[in-house]
Amino acid sequence: MKYSELVELYEKLQSTTKRTEKTLHIAAFLRKIPADELEKATLLLEGKIYPAWDKRVIGIAKQLMAKAISASTGTDTKTVINEWKKTGDLGKASESLTENKKQATLQMHELTIEKVFDNTRKLSEITGHGSVERKIQLISELLTSARPKEAKYIVRTILENMQVGVGAGVMRDAITWAYLPTVKGLFPELDKIILGKTVKVSNSEEAMQAKDAGAIEAENESKARQIYTAYINHVQQAYDLTNDFSEVARTMKQHGLLGTKKLAIGTPLKVMLALKTDTIHEAFEKAGKPLQAEYKFDGFRVQIHRKGNDIRIFTRRLENVTKQFPEIAESVKNNVKGDNYILDAEAVGYDKKTGKYLPFQNISQRIKRKYYIEKMAGQNPVEVNVFDIMAHEGKSLIEEPFSHRRKLLEQIITPKEKSISAAKSIMTESEKEIEKLFKESKAKGNEGLMLKRLDAPYKPGARVGHMLKYKKTMENLDLAITRAEWGEGKRSRWLSSYTIACRNNEKLLTLGKVSTGLKEKPEEGLSFEEMTRILRPLVTSEEGRTATVKPTTIIEVAYEEIQRSPTYESGYALRFPRVVRLRQDKGTNDASTLQTIEQYYREQKKKTKPNRPAAAGSQ
Ligand code: AMP
Repeated sequence: MKYSELVELYEKLQSTTKRTEKTLHIAAFLRKIPADELEKATLLLEGKIYPAWDKRVIGIAKQLMAKAISASTGTDTKTVINEWKKTGDLGKASESLTENKKQATLQMHELTIEKVFDNTRKLSEITGHGSVERKIQLISELLTSARPKEAKYIVRTILENMQVGVGAGVMRDAITWAYLPTVKGLFPELDKIILGKTVKVSNSEEAMQAKDAGAIEAENESKARQIYTAYINHVQQAYDLTNDFSEVARTMKQHGLLGTKKLAIGTPLKVMLALKTDTIHEAFEKAGKPLQAEYKFDGFRVQIHRKGNDIRIFTRRLENVTKQFPEIAESVKNNVKGDNYILDAEAVGYDKKTGKYLPFQNISQRIKRKYYIEKMAGQNPVEVNVFDIMAHEGKSLIEEPFSHRRKLLEQIITPKEKSISAAKSIMTESEKEIEKLFKESKAKGNEGLMLKRLDAPYKPGARVGHMLKYKKTMENLDLAITRAEWGEGKRSRWLSSYTIACRNNEKLLTLGKVSTGLKEKPEEGLSFEEMTRILRPLVTSEEGRTATVKPTTIIEVAYEEIQRSPTYESGYALRFPRVVRLRQDKGTNDASTLQTIEQYYREQKKKTKPNRPAAAGSQ
């Protein structure tokens, strides 16, 4: 397929902010693409060449790109840089320089999606002697054949800065719409993109069989809605398991709803998330009686995949950290029976000398480590507390009840102190026993308990009411940093005050600013210096002392109270906010939601009422 067709789509996506329009444009595009080109096209459409969970990068510096543009347009590098300064975007610079050149030369090969994808992927793979020249050559090969608009998007893709705004929600909807047999009349927008005959159906199985018919006619509106719901749920679940829309699109195209929602060992699936409970009574209501009460460890989540001797470890954000934690693979190899499985666990760091558990901050440094990995592992190793299993010996277990999964865990793990064990737990229907375990867990330095429903499946990517955290404190919030301010006086070298925001669907809404909790000296803990180092590369614009940053940094924030406030976008503000720690294991999508804040606000009102001083005169 021609690359120009994808470029046409990019342009359409950029010309609108409306979600439905974006969805329809993408759906129409996807329908046209043959199955064998679908994966590459979908990834490029998202501005990527690897799925989200694969952390390989293209890694081309802007200076190198400027050279490649210079080589392919026959312009000197200085002119390229001037053009870049003018627009602030090398993509645009390349577009206008290509325009000038094209008027002069006009020699072109038609670029295909495959060619652009393949060359870009090669860029990420080349290393060693002569790699710079080879990279320039690969980019130039594309740019010399590109039309001006194509050049713009090629440059942006290679620099991993697409700016077309295709979020996960839009992708999910677009894939659903692309392969959903049209339900006539129900979704008039869809009729615009579907051509073909109409078949009458009455349920989702029939709709599935009729997937090539183009359009289907449901018996009535509620049946039509059922079919739509079946499709959208299927796409969402497939994405939760694969974290790769390119694969979801291909299987939907080829098999429709009959496609398996595949769980593959080696490919991380999204983790299941917990809700919170304030009382054991509420937990019994939600999770049933008896339930399973487990220690809630204060470390970081790891998803461990094993296929023979190939062991891979992913964080909650699905980053591959296998290399950084060699001792985890070792513990698994030596103490967990079986040839292949996927485990869900919490890794907790401890000091090798004293045996004492360490705060998350100390261990989080290891996640980003590239060097001295062995040394760090030697000093501050982690112990693995396994609390779930999603696949075992070639079989997916996510539909199985939790109690079966837990039993299996106990069978295959030989517990070894300070290495690996199944999370300490009890099955109980007694409130007293839960309280006792809670105290015991807190005394060991854990956060509290997790209370889990015995017959519940594993729901990747979902925040579920059958796994409840029980901590008994005013919960801290995980908030995204959207802006940061340069400090004054001795803090002038640092970004030292941060605008924090919660999430409402795909939007971020501010809640206030925070600057306390951070240290001036790095040896005392999370410092302004470290925050500045993290935030500086994320700055997208600066005005006066305030920098706007990509909102990918999440900090855990403690506070005294949530108050209503017209000052901030969320309608709420935090009283006495304080940074507790950096959550490197979390991303923008993990920021606490507006609903959570509303919920805490309501709960806080309930809690504080009885303690308020009595009104004057009413003794
Ligand atoms: P939170 O991060 O406060 O939403 O709490 C949920 C997190 O607790 C999970 O993502 C895990 O990383 C962690 N956790 C610790 N112990 C357990 C456990 N026994 N079961 C499930 N999650 C646990």
